[in-house]
Amino acid sequence: MLGHRHHRQLGLVDQSGLESLNLHLSGDAGMIVTTLAQIEQMGACQVSAGGHVSVDLEPSSDIALHSWQLPVEGLSKWYEVVDILNVQHGLTRTATPNSMHLHFRSRKVWNETSSDLQVTVWNGRGVLSDFPLLFEEDPEINNTLIDASIEIAACAVALQQVLLQQGIIRSISATDRWLTLSVRIDDVPPEAAVDMFSSEYGPGTATALPDGSGSLLRFRVPLEHTPPEMLRILEHPCTESGTLIPNGWMSISPIPVEIYDGIVYDQPAKLPAQLESLNAVVLGAGGLGSWAAPLLAQGVELANFDLTLIDGDDAVDEHNLNRQVLYKESDIGFPKATQSAERLASLFGECSSIRGIHSRLESNHIFEPEDIHELDTISLDCLFDDYSDTTSEQIKIALKEMDVGLACLDNMNSRTLFNRACIDRDAIFINGGGEAFEGLVEILDSNVCMTCRYGEESARSREVISCQEVGTRPVASIVTTTAWTGAMQAALALLASAERRELLSADWFKGLDFNMGRIQPRVIGRLPWIQGNCNSHA
Ligand SMILES: [Zn+2]
Repeated sequence: MLGHRHHRQLGLVDQSGLESLNLHLSGDAGMIVTTLAQIEQMGACQVSAGGHVSVDLEPSSDIALHSWQLPVEGLSKWYEVVDILNVQHGLTRTATPNSMHLHFRSRKVWNETSSDLQVTVWNGRGVLSDFPLLFEEDPEINNTLIDASIEIAACAVALQQVLLQQGIIRSISATDRWLTLSVRIDDVPPEAAVDMFSSEYGPGTATALPDGSGSLLRFRVPLEHTPPEMLRILEHPCTESGTLIPNGWMSISPIPVEIYDGIVYDQPAKLPAQLESLNAVVLGAGGLGSWAAPLLAQGVELANFDLTLIDGDDAVDEHNLNRQVLYKESDIGFPKATQSAERLASLFGECSSIRGIHSRLESNHIFEPEDIHELDTISLDCLFDDYSDTTSEQIKIALKEMDVGLACLDNMNSRTLFNRACIDRDAIFINGGGEAFEGLVEILDSNVCMTCRYGEESARSREVISCQEVGTRPVASIVTTTAWTGAMQAALALLASAERRELLSADWFKGLDFNMGRIQPRVIGRLPWIQGNCNSHA
């Protein structure tokens, strides 16, 4: 087992509580696999810690659609999954008496069964409830372009409910933890102590001892040299057991549903089964991008799906594996852009147009050189650095041809730059962000850009909020938030593209918030003091 795999979630949840969970899953095979994949990523339900997963599925059940989420490629049947995951989770078909039971209903399996939690997904709608949904009229179930996204988002929210209900979420989260070597130096003042001592990890910091007798010198030990069990000794309280669904149900999808007295009053489906083509740029192949990219692919005819992933990270880290679903242990140390593109190309083989570009997005990719002197608000520091470079050319071509851009990255300035690129090229822009138990998705267009929405200063911020050590503020992160947010970015991108092609007439929300798992529509408006056309300030 990997030592620091769960480092980024240790401050959010009681990891041993997670490990000892007992869950029983029944219903749709694909959604069961999705849930199991997220259980895997969180390190939940470990046999070695008294946890267990039981799954009520026929061994020959087909799981191909969702198998990309598991860290093993090429699986298509449930018995193949059992062979691989049995050791960690002790997979059986029989629930233990204390198991929480989750039942998944979707286009493939529509049978009802009573359980603790019900996940119902149909025609682009998704509902989490504590009772089997009743329909005024049984809906005619069709495939839709956002099924895969909604199923993943719904499973993420169901697992979030499990975390809440089991009381294993920390009431105050600790966003980072590390080990420090502390050294007492008698009779030496702090400034001198810092000069006299150093370690292979660089200089230390020092403070004066309270009695004036010397200094206390500290050295930070890097994560990879820290025994993982040492990082687990910190105890802090968890919130009391709660629920996401005080009224018994909650909608998860951007497509709203009407439920009164437990009965669904549903309009006929108006979503297409697939888009015939899509040209997408995903900026950032971390947590959000690694969920969103394959889900976009699942809503488009693969032969006409063109995807460019742009990511500047030099290497997949061990602690990315708790939520960045496209990566496996063997990817550690390699650039995300190339590894994710390779994985996607192997998963969606029919589609040859998936490419990864290992680079950051810079001003010279967005603007023509002659336009730049007119734009005094943009940052010019990286301008022309690699102007004739082939990577830059590839990025420019990708931007020129995109129908839709997904901002799946870790800093505001790049989002704002990418937003501007989308406005100028009349492409749909989907913003997304997630941290700890909060996530957001929203569509910004030429009426409300990043600057209108967040203000000049925030929109230009270069602070890197990241799960990387190099980020100025490493953030805590867990798969339930990341999977929901990435999946909803894909869903909004597909819905907006369908709407633009007049294939869609349903009502839907152009933005949603995830707050501890509670899903609410997001109001997208300008800050009142921002005036003028978006092209003039974006
Ligand atoms: Zn604007």
